[in-house]
Amino acid sequence: MGELAADKHVKYIVSVGKKKGSFESVVIEHMRVNGAYWGLTTLDLLGMLHVVDVDEIVSWLISCRHESGGFGGNVGHDPHIMYTLSVVQVLALFDKLDVLDIEKVSDYVAGLQNEDGSFSGDEWGEVDTRFSYIAICCLSLLHRLNKINVEKAVKYIVSCKNLDGGFGSTPGGESHAGQIFCCVGALAITGSLHHIDKDLLGWWLCERQVKSGGLNGRPEKLPDVCYSWWVLSSLIMIDRVHWINKEKLVQYILACQDVENGGISDRPDDAVDVYHTFFGVAGLSHLEYPGVKAIDPAYALPVDVVNRIFFGR
Ligand SMILES: [Zn+2]
Repeated sequence: MGELAADKHVKYIVSVGKKKGSFESVVIEHMRVNGAYWGLTTLDLLGMLHVVDVDEIVSWLISCRHESGGFGGNVGHDPHIMYTLSVVQVLALFDKLDVLDIEKVSDYVAGLQNEDGSFSGDEWGEVDTRFSYIAICCLSLLHRLNKINVEKAVKYIVSCKNLDGGFGSTPGGESHAGQIFCCVGALAITGSLHHIDKDLLGWWLCERQVKSGGLNGRPEKLPDVCYSWWVLSSLIMIDRVHWINKEKLVQYILACQDVENGGISDRPDDAVDVYHTFFGVAGLSHLEYPGVKAIDPAYALPVDVVNRIFFGR
C-alpha cells in the first residue's frame, strides 16, 4: 500500500495558489474564495499553513467584500452565502476574524432566512438545505446564532428528512450524501441531533462504500473521493463511523493521488484538483492517518481552530 505524498500535495497547492497572484487557476474564477478555503485548509491539516503570505490573502479576501456585508467569490463578484462562509473559514484558520465587521456579515447571513425557517443562498432566493448549513455554520463561528430563528431553521431541515433516514435539498428531495452532511452538520451545531434516526441513517451511509473501498453519494453511483468527507463526517457526527471499512477507504483515497506532481482526484487516474485534494486529505484526517491534523466534522475546520474559537485555547 502506498503512502500519503504530503510534500507533493503541499507543492501542488502552493503552485495552484501562485499561478495568478492568488488562489485560483484550476479553480474557476468566480469560485476562487472557495478554492482558497480548500487549499489553505489542506495546508493546515498537513501542518504547512506557514508557507503562504497571510497578509496578501487576507487583503484579497477583504477586497471580495460587498456593501451588503456578504462576500463574492472574487473581487467585483456578487455576494453569496457560500463564499461568505469560505471567507469566514479562511479568516478563522489565520485567527484573523477580527478584520471582519462581524455585525454586518452576520446581518447579511441572517437576512437570508425565510419565513418557513429555510435559507436562500443570495438575494435571488434559491432555497436549499445546503444554505441552512452554511448559515448556521457561519453564524456559529461568528458567535451570532442568536440573529436567526434557530427553532424554525431546525424545523425546516427536519421537514427535508426522508423515509430512508437521509435528507434532501428541499422537502421531498432525494437523499444524497452531500445534502445529508449539510443537514446533520446543521443539526449537530444547533444541538438537535435527536431528530435523526442514527441507525437508519448510519445504515444508508455505510451502504455508500463500494467494492474498491471508495464511497459514492447515492445508490448505483461511482465512488468519488469527495464522499470520503461528506459520508465520514456524517457518520462521525451520528457515532456510526465504525460501521465502514476504514482500511479499504484509506487505500482508495491513496490510490487517487498523483504521486509525481501532487494533488488528489475523484477516482484513480483522473485529473487532480484542489477540491478533491482537500476532501481526500480531510477524509484521511477522519481516518486518523498519521501526520494529518484532526478536522472537526461539523465545522470543516481543524479541531485546534474550532477549539480556539469556542474555548479560546
Ligand atoms: Zn467529487
